[in-house]
Parts: sequence; C-alpha cells; structure tokens
Amino acid sequence: MISRVQKINTSSESKDLDCSSAMAVLESEYQSPDGLSVNELMDSKVQGGLTYNDFLVLPGYIDFLVSEVTLESKITKKVTLKTPFMSSPMDTVTEVEMAINMALQGGIGVIHHNCTAEEQAEMVRKVKKFENGFITDPVVFSPTQKVGDVLAHKSQFGFCGIPITDTGKLFGKLLGIVTSRDVQFHKDKTTPLSDIMTTDLVTAPQGITLEEANEILRSSKKGKLPIINAAGNLVSLLSRSDLMKNLHFPFASKTPKSKQLICAAAVGTRPDDRMRLEKLVEAGLDIVVLDSSQGNSVFQVDMIKWIKKTFGNGLEVIAGNVVTREQAANLIVAGADALRVGMGSGSACITQDVMACGRPQATAVYSVAHFASRFGVPCIADGGLSSSGQIIKALAMGASAVMMGGALAACSESPGKIYVRDGQRFKAYRGMGSIDAMQKAGTSSESADNAATGRYFSESDKVKVAQGVSGFVTEKGSLREYIPYLTTALQHSLQDMGVQSLDSLRAGVNSGKVRFELRSSGAIREGDVHGFTSYEKRLY
Ligand code: GDP
Ligand code: GDP
Ligand code: GDP
Ligand code: 5GP
Repeated sequence: MISRVQKINTSSESKDLDCSSAMAVLESEYQSPDGLSVNELMDSKVQGGLTYNDFLVLPGYIDFLVSEVTLESKITKKVTLKTPFMSSPMDTVTEVEMAINMALQGGIGVIHHNCTAEEQAEMVRKVKKFENGFITDPVVFSPTQKVGDVLAHKSQFGFCGIPITDTGKLFGKLLGIVTSRDVQFHKDKTTPLSDIMTTDLVTAPQGITLEEANEILRSSKKGKLPIINAAGNLVSLLSRSDLMKNLHFPFASKTPKSKQLICAAAVGTRPDDRMRLEKLVEAGLDIVVLDSSQGNSVFQVDMIKWIKKTFGNGLEVIAGNVVTREQAANLIVAGADALRVGMGSGSACITQDVMACGRPQATAVYSVAHFASRFGVPCIADGGLSSSGQIIKALAMGASAVMMGGALAACSESPGKIYVRDGQRFKAYRGMGSIDAMQKAGTSSESADNAATGRYFSESDKVKVAQGVSGFVTEKGSLREYIPYLTTALQHSLQDMGVQSLDSLRAGVNSGKVRFELRSSGAIREGDVHGFTSYEKRLY
C-alpha cells in the first residue's frame, strides 16, 4: 500500500504553534509532501491502470503571471513547436485546411492517408506552399501566355501574382509582372500578357537577406518583390501577403530557413507505402507518422530503418502506436524520432472491447514517456482528449504533445460539411477502423491495404473486423478560437500548478515536486457540476 502515515502531534495538551514556524513544521514533522509523487500515483500493481479521470494534480505556488507561461515543446527529436497540439491523421479530421490552421496556431496537423498517394502529396504541397520566405520555385509565365491562363491559375491555386520571363520559366530574363489587379476586370481572356504586364519593376538582387528583402517589399508598397541575379534573370519571389501571415500568426510552426509551414502526414508500413512516402517527401514533407494501431512490428522496424537510410536526417519519423516500454524500446532502437502513445483510448475506438488489447491512457503515457525520455525521444499522447484538463494531465504524465481527433473533427476546418438537425450543427467523425472508413478505402482507386484503414484491416482478411465507430460530433466553430482557448486554459492550469513551462512541469513531476491525488468515484462526482436543475456549459 502507498504509505501515507504522517508523524503529527496528537497530544491533548498541544497548544497552537507559532504561525511563523509553519514551513519548518511542514519540513520537520511530515515525512513527505502532501499528495502523491507520480511513482506512487502510478503504482499500478495497487491501483490498476489509470485514466485521466482517475487523478488530479495538486496546486503549487504561484510567483509568476499567466502571460509568462510558455507551452513550447518538442514533438520529435528535432522539431519544437510553440504549442503542443497535433491533429489526428483521420479522413474526418486532417486535410489541407486543418493542417494549415493547426500550423498557423503553433501546432501541427497530420494529413491522413485514406486516399491515393497523389491526392495526399497534393495536400502536402498545398500546406508547404501556403506561406514562404523567398519563394524559390515561383509560378512563372511567358509574355505570350494569355489573361485566361492567369485566371485559370488563380481559380486552381488561389494566387496570381506571376512574374513574366522570356522563357516562361524561373531563371529566364525578368520582363514584367502580372498581378490580380491586372486581370481582375480585363474582359478579353485572349489578350497576351505582354500587353498588360507591368514592366517598370521594383526588384532586389540575389544574395540579399530575407530581412533586407522584406524591408524593400514593405517600403515599395507592392504585392510582390522579384529577386534577380546580375544578368537580370529571375531567381525567386517575395510576397507581401507572407509578411501579413507572419504578423498575424506569430506562433506559426515554420521551418526556420524557408519560413514554410511544417507539414506532417501519415503512411502505413506496406511496400506500397514506400512509394507513397517518396511522393510526399518530393512534395516537401517534414515529418512522417507511421500509422499502426500496434506499432511494435517487424514491418515498422524495417520501415523506420528504410526511411532513415533513404531520407537521412531530413525527415523526422514518429513511430507507434505503443503503450508499453517493451514496444517502445524496439522502435527507439530502430531510430524513431518520437513515439505516438495510445491503444483503444480514442473516442471513436472499440479496440479494447474487440481485441482485448490496449491500456488505460494515463498509465500508457506515463510508462512509455518515462522510459523514452531517457533516450531523448518525445512522446505524443494520442486519443481520449476532449478537455484542457485531460490535455494537461497527459502532459503531466510525460507527453511532449497531444494528438486529438474528435475534438478537432468538431471544428470548421475539418473536412466535410456541417449537418443541421433541430437547430444544432454537427460534423461527421469516424474511426479509421470503422466499417465506413474501411469501405471508403475499398472503393478508392487504391486497395484497402494501401490506405489508412490498412492500420486496422489486413489484405488477407475476408471479414472486416471494425475497431472504430462512425457518427457525428457537435460543431464548435473555428480552430482560430478553439486553439487559443486551449492555449490559455493550459497556461492557467500550469500557473495553478506553480510551473512556468512544460519542461518545468516534467521536471517537477520527475523530482516529486508536482504532486497528485487519486480520485474516488465520489470525488469525480464532486468535481463535476452538481445541484443544478439545468445549466449551460459554455467554455469560451
Ligand atoms: P519572426 O520575425 O519572429 O518571425 O522571426 P524569424 O526569425 O522567424 O524571422 C526572421 C525574419 O524573417 C524577420 O525579418 C521576419 O519578418 C521574416 N519572416 C518570418 N516569417 C516570414 C515569412 O513567412 N515570409 C517572409 N517573407 N518573411 C518572414
Ligand atoms: P497573389 O497576389 O494572387 O499572388 O496572392 P497572394 O499574394 O494573396 O498569395 C500568395 C501566397 O501564395 C503567398 O503566401 C505565397 O507565399 C504563396 N505562394 C506559393 N507559391 C507561390 C507562387 O509560385 N507564386 C506566388 N505568387 N505565390 C505563391
Ligand atoms: P495586387 O494588389 O495583388 O494586384 O498586386 P500589386 O500591388 O503587386 O500590384 C498592383 C499593380 O502594380 C499591378 O498592376 C502591378 O502590375 C503593378 N506594379 C508596378 N510595379 C510593380 C513592381 O515593382 N512590383 C509589383 N509586384 N507590381 C508592380
Ligand atoms: P480522439 O481524439 O477522438 O479521442 O482519438 C483520436 C485517435 O483515435 C487517433 O489519433 C487514432 O490514434 C485513434 N483512432 C482513430 N480511428 C480509430 C479506430 O477506428 N479505432 C481505434 N482503435 N482507434 C482509432
């Protein structure tokens, strides 16, 4: 049993002690600080596996402002984000809009793979192209191309600030520029661009720093700044809208050099997935997530080794899913840059019921993260997170980041339309192991084993065994409000715990300074709203 014996003075003659001695009495007369250390909390031989609901974190001492709390955290060995939020690789959660907006808010989206390799690569490309420093591969037209070509490009790719060179290619001689204002009200689509392009251009020389080029762009008051070499050939382009994006999203997750958003995508571990991954890397992928519900397999170990051999250190690999130290060890040895932790805790998930495999999530995160941290491998707590309190508990258990499916499927940036019933707004959400999702894989141009649902369905299976459900979640508006809400809630929570950063939280937990308390079923009821006839739970 956990020892909670405390050496306190029970003598009937005891008098009130001098108040100024409270700290000294605390240290000399009580064997340990109030509450439990994480080791005591996690003594699962006594308590059984714990979920986030089974415990609370005890408050600490506040000597800093909430605005001074930072949430910076590593999600892989090399990638650090300003906020620890990730969106799940699920076809009702992460496509282009979710991935862009997660990255703009300082987190990251993992693009799903329940689609063809080409479709997935196109999504990666769109995320990478969304924001830039120097645009090193700008779309360039020739003077003989027509206004209609610019309009067609605008409707397909969303931008139409296009430099014109003699060859119609990058590194050709810069002749002019065409922007939206040049074509917006131009009636004749067959007019050649040479007739409407602006030729009197503000340019900057090759070799200029990004800071200097940005300054020229600001003072020129133009939308684009072409960069040219000594011979007058176009070498890259700068866009004013990127200065605005940088201004509006100061926490955005970007690669330091290119200033492009960091992009992650999921693949499986079958032979075809290697070809898929090559396409994603060509599109600019930064992080690959190996999407298996049970990641401790020869297939995943081989895949990690192949990725490291093929792409070197340029591509970070998040392996998993795992819930035990033994599973983690194999993947760490193989070269995983981070581990995804969770089996059966997802909100759309029936794995524990169907497979009898899995682990309560708080115990899983603690066991794996505690072990993996010894090798500098960050862990991502995946699934079962629907409140800021659960998120902070996952981080207190040692996770460096959290991955959410259902909570983000409910946001307007997730794929799919909004359904309205009885005045309520809903979005579809389904487990990737649901029959629904597996059937989509079967009807796509690729075979089921090459799609995301290969995670749950193997090619030799004649009968599909579902590991997930499909249904609806209540729509909750934009990520642009939801992620700032979570961020602020986490800052307040860390302040209550008396720690100023996620690193301090982990250090405090490991040293025993941050304390915990188990919750009885009565305590769980007490912590919930009670005594109302009816009430509205509005979070932000
Ligand atoms: P930041 O200013 O806090 O974003 O600091 P950074 O080190 O990220 O940026 C260094 C320089 O790059 C600054 O001059 C920024 O204005 C500029 N910068 C940052 N992001 C972008 C971007 O997306 N596009 C462009 N053109 N410049 C950027
Ligand atoms: P435009 O004025 O029509 O070009 O559109 P905006 O300036 O509003 O948006 C251009 C956005 O697309 C910027 O964030 C660019 O970094 C990005 N982008 C990515 N690739 C290209 C490209 O090849 N050309 C241009 N013009 N923008 C690109
Ligand atoms: P827009 O607001 O997206 O149309 O883009 P700009 O502000 O770049 O362009 C406004 C007008 O100025 C267009 O007719 C451009 O062709 C013209 N323009 C004139 N000189 C320059 C220059 O040096 N750079 C750019 N980007 N546009 C120029
Ligand atoms: P949520 O945030 O909705 O609680 O959980 C999301 C996580 O559930 C995903 O990141 C993924 O790991 C897991 N997941 C997604 N689909 C399924 C499924 O069909 N079955 C199971 N067991 N897990 C799923």
